Amino acid sequence: MFKALIVDKDEEGKTSASVQEIDIARLSPGDVIVAVDYSTVNYKDGLCIGPGGGLVRNYPHVPGIDFAGTVEKSDDARYRPGDKVVLTGWRVGEAHWGGYAQKARVKADWLVPLPDGITTRQAMAVGTAGFTAMLAVMALEDHGLKPGTGPVLVTGAAGGVGSVATAILANLGYEVAAVTGRPETEAYLRELGASQIVAREELNETVKRPLEAETWAGCVDAVGGDMLARILGQMKYGASVAAVGLAGGSGLPATVIPFLLRGVNLLGIDSVMRPYEDRVRAWGRIAKDLPMEKLEAMVQPATLADLPDLGRAILKGQIKGRVVVDVNA
Ligand code: NDP
Repeated sequence: MFKALIVDKDEEGKTSASVQEIDIARLSPGDVIVAVDYSTVNYKDGLCIGPGGGLVRNYPHVPGIDFAGTVEKSDDARYRPGDKVVLTGWRVGEAHWGGYAQKARVKADWLVPLPDGITTRQAMAVGTAGFTAMLAVMALEDHGLKPGTGPVLVTGAAGGVGSVATAILANLGYEVAAVTGRPETEAYLRELGASQIVAREELNETVKRPLEAETWAGCVDAVGGDMLARILGQMKYGASVAAVGLAGGSGLPATVIPFLLRGVNLLGIDSVMRPYEDRVRAWGRIAKDLPMEKLEAMVQPATLADLPDLGRAILKGQIKGRVVVDVNA
């Protein structure tokens, strides 16, 4: 028996979440059993702890779209008991039972060996958000971004993706302009390495002119919507925006003028179905390029019992930095 956060749905379609003792036989099918050490809280987790947002297939359900832990039993030659592993994506925590439990059973193909120098706790301080931030920075670099070419904008900067993107970019020598709707996070963002704070209101107005002053050498965008549309018209010639999220909306009320007259690139970032080789490369870069002491400053510790409240908070945009859930606390 072990502890898990179980979400159930009643006949009227109302969901409720509680920590319960469950039997290992109830876990989703898979070839590796992992003793989970830590998980975290993402926007999708907020949906899956609550009404599901159309992501959860069957109830009762164990959410948790990412986790890090130690292999306990493996029917796959690539993993042995004692190996440290991390999992993000593959619809774990949505279609399959996830990381809000002391044990998880998953496909070996979904796991990534934890690189040397990262603990399971640090891996979840990074989590899906930080992993995706790294993928976004790698995409910008692959499209020519280099330090010294101008400020790089990070939107939703005090959130999970934004916080890690800010820390990585600053550590790589970029000048980071952090967009936030929470002025009280300024000291936190400067501590992570932001050199400029941009108020959300300055950027979330609908596009009035398709082109504005060429300002940003690159952008990691967690917000989408009006803000992304506006930013496209402020990019420098040939610069790229990595579109990661939709915290501000899934629409894109933009014109194609920045693409045609300034050669601006809009790069889509998906972390869920990302091929294995890219995952290994990104986790290797995280181990090298993310200052772990700055990561520690972002961490808010939590337990399984805290998750219903945290799920509601992330849906309201009230979480700062990275929540690390100790499933054994
Ligand atoms: P968080 O909730 O931690 O951060 C989102 C941030 O966006 C908030 O902290 C806030 O930043 C800002 N924000 C919230 N609402 C608005 C609004 N209405 N207008 C403008 N800004 C807003 O979420 P994550 O960082 O974990 O994820 C960010 C986005 O990325 C989400 O949409 C998520 O679904 C997506 N995502 C996508 C992935 C992929 O594979 N493509 C993987 C992981 C996440 P501030 O307070 O600083 O203004």
